[in-house]
This record gives sequence, structure tokens and C-alpha cells, in this order.
Amino acid sequence: MLALQGAFREHRLVLERMGIKSREVKKAEHLEGIDGLIIPGGESTTIGKLLVDFGIREPLLRLIEKGLPLFGTCAGMIVMAKEIVGSRQPRLGVMDIVVRRNAFGRQVDSFETDLEVKGIEGGPVRAVFIRAPYIEAAGEGVEILAEFAGKAVMARQENCLATAFHPELTSDNRIHQLFIQMVEDYLRKK
Ligand code: GLN
Repeated sequence: MLALQGAFREHRLVLERMGIKSREVKKAEHLEGIDGLIIPGGESTTIGKLLVDFGIREPLLRLIEKGLPLFGTCAGMIVMAKEIVGSRQPRLGVMDIVVRRNAFGRQVDSFETDLEVKGIEGGPVRAVFIRAPYIEAAGEGVEILAEFAGKAVMARQENCLATAFHPELTSDNRIHQLFIQMVEDYLRKK
């Protein structure tokens, strides 16, 4: 769990509920031995800046290149994007997506909806959006897994999974389960 800023405790509680061990990554040395990393929601400019300031960005990029599974929610998704509309803020830039921040407009700062997610069985997923971004464009290697109002809000590219919403704020574990599946596949191949 990247624990520089934002809603990392909520993600840890979900993992705990699922019986999965997690630890907080606050410095580069905490990356040692991890099998996957979640980047929580929060403030993407702060998370991106702290990744650089604390020297985590470069070693993390090397791990992602070697296949480390990465899951970003909301601000996490923004940090993972190659391109952020109208912003030069620091980022990882590991997903071939163009994201727009605070994209659903001021009137609808936050909202909840039911989403059909590709690859997730058992009915729609309840999705909580808080000043959420959406994916404005995506490269060929990116699979769009969910859309809301015609906008892409969840995507996967190889070892990178991203949601514009906050699956850690509901009691439904299925999206985290999808990420854990990616971690298990990675460990099998390692
Ligand atoms: N709007 C925030 C950002 O741009 C993201 C909001 C969130 O993570 N809930 O960083």
C-alpha cells in the first residue's frame, strides 16, 4: 500500500477482510519484497510529488517494468497515467491513458452508481466517485473494463489496473479480488 497520502487505510481494511497481508510503503526501502502495490485515492499532485521527493519513483518504476502488479484508484489512476489533461504534475506514467481530473464537473462532486465490470461476475459493482477523473483516451494495449455515462472509468494494461472510483469504500471485495488474482498470476510466473 502506497501510504504517502490519501485513503490507504481503507484499502488495508479491505485486504485485511480478505485475509491478505499488507504493509505501508512510505520510503523506497519499504518496496523490498512486495508482491503488488496499491496507490490510493487522495490528491494526485501530492502523491506524485512525494513519490519523487522520497525517492520512491525510480525504484518503483523498475519493479513495475519487471511485472509488479499495480492497482490505482482515483488519484492513484491519475498518478499511473502517461498523460493528464492540462497538467505537468509528477507521475509514474506507466499506463497508456489520457486522464482528465475532476472530470464529472462541480455539480456532481461525488456520486454513487452501479457499474457492469468486464470480467467480474455476480452483478454490477457499486461504485463511489469522489471528484473523480475519467479516461479520455487509451492506447491499443489498454483494455477498458467499465464505463459510466459513455466515459471509461476502469482499465487494465498488463500488470496495471486502475479505477476512477473507490472500491475500498464499499463492502464488495470483487475488484480487490481481481487485483489479488493479478498478484497470484505474477507470483506464479516469478
Ligand atoms: N481529484 C483528485 C485528484 O486529482 C482525486 C480525487 C480522489 O482521489 N478522490 O487528485
